[in-house]
Amino acid sequence: MNDSFKHLETKLIHAGEPHILGAVNVPIFQSAIFESAGEDGYHGIRYIRLNNTPNHLALNEKLAAIEGGEAALVTGSGMAAISAALLSVLSGGGHLLIQDCIYGGTHDFLTQDFAGLGMSYSFINADDPASWKALLRANTKAIYVESMSNPTLQVPDLAAVVSFAKEHGLVSMIDNTFASPVNFRPLEFGFNLSLHSATKYLNGHSDIVAGAVIGSSNLVGCIRRKLNHLGGALDPHACYLLYRGMKTMSVRVKYQNESAQKVASWLERHPKVGKVNYPGLASHARHQRARELFGGFGGVLSFELKQGSPAADSFLRRLRLPLQTGSLGAVETLITRPSLTSHSGMSREDRERLGITDGLIRLSVGIEATEDLVDDLQQALEG
Ligand SMILES: *Cc1c(COP(=O)(O)O)cnc(C)c1O
Repeated sequence: MNDSFKHLETKLIHAGEPHILGAVNVPIFQSAIFESAGEDGYHGIRYIRLNNTPNHLALNEKLAAIEGGEAALVTGSGMAAISAALLSVLSGGGHLLIQDCIYGGTHDFLTQDFAGLGMSYSFINADDPASWKALLRANTKAIYVESMSNPTLQVPDLAAVVSFAKEHGLVSMIDNTFASPVNFRPLEFGFNLSLHSATKYLNGHSDIVAGAVIGSSNLVGCIRRKLNHLGGALDPHACYLLYRGMKTMSVRVKYQNESAQKVASWLERHPKVGKVNYPGLASHARHQRARELFGGFGGVLSFELKQGSPAADSFLRRLRLPLQTGSLGAVETLITRPSLTSHSGMSREDRERLGITDGLIRLSVGIEATEDLVDDLQQALEG
């Protein structure tokens, strides 16, 4: 890569740009098959499912560059990245240590599919490293956390995860979707694999579903072969949209960091609002840790109303600006109740233990004017 691409902002624009026939953008190669150029082996055949068309190659190069990885792999969804990575790292019946409060889809993959696949897991309290060693088994292969957990925005002891993994020969894996590469770059910090739902901040425009795996050439190579067998490739048009979306990620996320901070502080002062979860608030239990780890605190926060679940219902009905949906990381402000969407697959008991009450509201701040958003929250709270 060109040495002048030092910072993320520059890499987002210029890394992995093949300039085919002088084109400033990578054309969409809408071709499932390519003539043989003497490639050897199955995984070398150029074919969309094998993740090696010019659109995939350009995207993989940009993804690797922005988080400082040797290699990257774009996938058909965030869950394709997560499931292919876990199936690869735990192949042969491995055991996983995994943070107890994780993305609902990942949680359901563990609880519903792992046993049938001959794999096993133990949940860990990601804030209590002293408790992890007792959970190790002879076949433990990896430790898995999220940079900021969904939807309560906990910040695990990431330094302890990296050193524990090194000490015990485990692969350290992190779902970096919530922080985004703008606020945290896991490989520079010592993690082995960074996973993303590119559906969220990487693309940012709510028009595609995609995922990414970033890491060493060796690990990413194994995951790519697994994904090639499972078939979760991203199509070339979606590759193009993701590539284009990524170019503005830094500008979007920095604005979202600032706007979410203002909204969180405003909510915290409102008399009808109870607990606000946002790592940028001094009241967050791990605010100091978040300051040390992250370049910014992200665009997602969650909160409860003092009057609980029925009040949350009417508040959401009165809102005019945020769109009610389970996703996040978009240019539009999105709002949801995780107990009814992303975490509805969990039992109420498990949810309550993790702080996901029925009244908890998750807000993903978009790039609208902060003032308009606050005005709308205010009229909905006071209506
Ligand atoms: C959305 C999300 C996923 C799953 O990604 P898809 O693109 O929907 O498959 C995984 N992890 C986190 C933290 C997410 O927010």
